[in-house]
Amino acid sequence: MNHAAAFSAAFLPTRYPEPDRMPGNAGWVIVRGNGVYIAAGTPPTILFSGNPEKTCTILRSQYLGHRNDVPLYAVETGPDSPVAGCTFHANIRELHGILPDDELALAAFAVRIIDFDRTTRFCGQCGAPTRQSGIERAKCCDACGMITYPRTSPAIIVLIRKGDKVLLARSPRFPPDMYSIIAGFVEACETLEEAVRREVREEVGLEVTNIRYLASEPWPFPNSLMLGFVADYAGGGITIDNNEIVAAGWFGREDLPTLPSPLSISRALIDRWIADK
Ligand SMILES: [Zn+2]
Repeated sequence: MNHAAAFSAAFLPTRYPEPDRMPGNAGWVIVRGNGVYIAAGTPPTILFSGNPEKTCTILRSQYLGHRNDVPLYAVETGPDSPVAGCTFHANIRELHGILPDDELALAAFAVRIIDFDRTTRFCGQCGAPTRQSGIERAKCCDACGMITYPRTSPAIIVLIRKGDKVLLARSPRFPPDMYSIIAGFVEACETLEEAVRREVREEVGLEVTNIRYLASEPWPFPNSLMLGFVADYAGGGITIDNNEIVAAGWFGREDLPTLPSPLSISRALIDRWIADK
């Protein structure tokens, strides 16, 4: 399946070794917690230039990659460090349609990499302070030699077909009336196909067959990689677990409920099924 991932950072290749200090020609994104600052303009932008220390208080900075020979960085500022003339947006996904698509992906990537820096300041094995590798995106512990890379948590998401209907379910976390397809994290020492069968069994009590991989989508909120599958119903009646799922049913193309955001791979899989009559 040809899927244009909304949050892929492939447009931003990295060049190592990275310089010791942020170069004067760098562009930078200002992160605060899980959000970013936006400068007004047509279109609005999250990219700033010049000396960031003249704009805001910097808690940390991270090299992101190069775009058109310009090195891009993320800098994190504190909660009491407002940036003149800018607005703060805590939810990156709400910026869809406001920012150009590549800046939306850049905003999510900047938040993701700042989170990596913030949560790997100390070695997870021996507790000593870490240092930036400089030659790859990693943190090094000089005390015990451990290298820490950004964590990626694989999760499966599966569209289940039964005749001309599709299984859709509601999580209690969803907005009212919204339904989506079954998803869940892959467990330790589990294959992707086993994760698909287990999640479907746990959440809706069904058996599936013909499990086929279609596409993937980075979902950096905070660090998932969604792996999209399609499968066919093989048996069982819908039995929801009432924790992760509060409603589920078979839906035809003519009676679909509210569906997830067009940014998500769940929507891409559902749209592919709708088009594939
Ligand atoms: Zn260590």
